Amino acid sequence: MTLKDLYKRQSARYKNHSEEKRKVGVLSPLVPRQDNKKVKVLKTEGERKDIFQVLFQNEFLKDILSESYMEQLIDLIYVKDLNEGDYLLRENQFFNSLYIWRNGTLEITGYGRSGEKCKHTRLFGDVSILHPSKSSQTIKALEKSSVWVLDSIDFKEVKINQVIERQDEIVKFLKNIPVIQDAPNERLYKLADLFKKQKFEESKILIREGDFIELFLIVTAGSATVLSRPQTNNGEKKLYRGDFFGEKIFHKETPSLHTVIVDSPGLDCFVLSKETFLDYFHDINDLLRKNTDSHGNYLYVELNQLKRIKTLGRGGFGKVELVQDSKNKDNFYALKSLRKAEIVGKSQIDQIFNEKKLQMLCDSYFIVKLYQTFKDPKYMYFLQEACMGGDLWNLLRRQKRKYFDTDTAKFYSACVIEAFNYLHSRDIVYRDLKPENVMVCADGYVKITDFGFAKRIGPHDRAFSFVGTAEYISPEVIQSHPQGKGVDYWALGIFIYELLVGQSPFRNSEHNDEKTYKAILKGIDFVSFPFTISPRARNLIKKLCRPLAVDRLGCQKDGVKDIEKHSWFSKMDWVKLRSRELEPPIRICLNGKSDTRYFDCVKDKSPEVALDDFGTWDGDF
Ligand code: ATP
Ligand code: MG
Repeated sequence: MTLKDLYKRQSARYKNHSEEKRKVGVLSPLVPRQDNKKVKVLKTEGERKDIFQVLFQNEFLKDILSESYMEQLIDLIYVKDLNEGDYLLRENQFFNSLYIWRNGTLEITGYGRSGEKCKHTRLFGDVSILHPSKSSQTIKALEKSSVWVLDSIDFKEVKINQVIERQDEIVKFLKNIPVIQDAPNERLYKLADLFKKQKFEESKILIREGDFIELFLIVTAGSATVLSRPQTNNGEKKLYRGDFFGEKIFHKETPSLHTVIVDSPGLDCFVLSKETFLDYFHDINDLLRKNTDSHGNYLYVELNQLKRIKTLGRGGFGKVELVQDSKNKDNFYALKSLRKAEIVGKSQIDQIFNEKKLQMLCDSYFIVKLYQTFKDPKYMYFLQEACMGGDLWNLLRRQKRKYFDTDTAKFYSACVIEAFNYLHSRDIVYRDLKPENVMVCADGYVKITDFGFAKRIGPHDRAFSFVGTAEYISPEVIQSHPQGKGVDYWALGIFIYELLVGQSPFRNSEHNDEKTYKAILKGIDFVSFPFTISPRARNLIKKLCRPLAVDRLGCQKDGVKDIEKHSWFSKMDWVKLRSRELEPPIRICLNGKSDTRYFDCVKDKSPEVALDDFGTWDGDF
């Protein structure tokens, strides 16, 4: 058989590629926002006390609620009236609210209870406040009754607002500090994120004269005394709410000229350590740097100055459009818009904020740049660099043989390794590698995007959540074992296989996730490797897809260097790749910046209907 026949045969085996579906990420289930008619009633002091008590007596809730926002939360609790025979909950039905008996008689059946009657203050559903939960009971009104209701979305709103208010408060302080007040807004918000709330006991010495300054403090309550050297004649000074100390942490090591002691009864502060600051920013100049030019010609824009050109793609919650800056007409961006009304679950809100926070922080050529975010009543927007070569999933399917040759796969994988290197050195694990999330730029280089599942995991922290895309999920995620950067190297092995074969190793034609997970747990040794995969590539894939993360290439002492040194990459010039002097394997031919030929035609439908969302959980997005 000639090589040509073999190629033909392999292409025939995977002939259904064009019908393949894009892979989607998995997270907890989605329950649509319920259109509740909220009956607001004024609560008496006694009722407020009852609600407060029943919430704080609950083993689970007492750990997640905070007294600081209880008044606000109790205001949002509303009344649901039930007539005789009405069901509050049915067994196995998903619900996303918390209920408290208010009056009347409720009958509880299911979960070992048959017809138990409830006529006193009692709570139903606790976990449901965090994510949609299946009811284990049926609850029915035996007479005209009513319950108090707290919707999960309201709870989250209050919690998120608290975080945001805190951030706003810190940014306000930061804007009064001469050395940093000129930093761009988004960087100040990033900095605000790094502060921790801390209490110091009376008489604690925060710093001694002559010691290097390691902490920056903003006082929120209480006071402290600043003692200066007698010869400076400054004597004693006090720090009260709104005062700050230690702004020298933003500079090279500086010894303190003062000793600071906490007064009675103690001090509450927002605190930033020098170490945390340097984990995120190279130095003060990095903090002050305007977000321009390192990636194209980005200039600050307003949402209404963006002209929509064409829809490039659609995702889970919205679409991505090519837009033009009407003031600087040479600047084009990809604007991703997410329908707010559909982003309801806690995991989704976290996902969006995470996406914003982590992606904006990244400044690597191998990661799609997120410049700005906006919001309006219906949507949240991400303004990103436009990658006009489309995504790698599309490019793969546009190949004659529906897979890439070795050199092409090697080049794209090397770009992804560069992105991982950047992220992992900052303790960020990406968790969603797949060709659908790798964008091709006009210069033929590729970049990763979609940071919804990314997470900052320090060397000693571990994540446990079930996130990723079924075919790319690693065994430790399926088994709910702790995850680290090993999940990314596992996914890299799957990715290299998919680029070389045209489809991922653990998939099944029915797209049955359970079958996929079973195959993943069985292991890579049970996967067939087509002849197009060279022994070196096979060896690398197997070393990346070892069942235990600690055994994987990339997770050992020399980290990513072990992958770079692997024989499959022997001809790769990593230095040239980083300086982008390598010729890309596939040239992207475009006729100007608004040429969308690499995107599957996405029809610009009649304006889509998106509900207004007047919640405030999007705060400072
Ligand atoms: P999902 O959650 O389903 O993965 P999503 O809402 O996260 O989707 P993305 O994956 O970010 O959306 O983008 C959807 C599509 O839009 C991509 O597959 C791609 O074709 C296009 N796209 C996304 N980002 C860009 C970009 N920066 N430049 C050009 N096109 C893009
Ligand atoms: Mg995506």
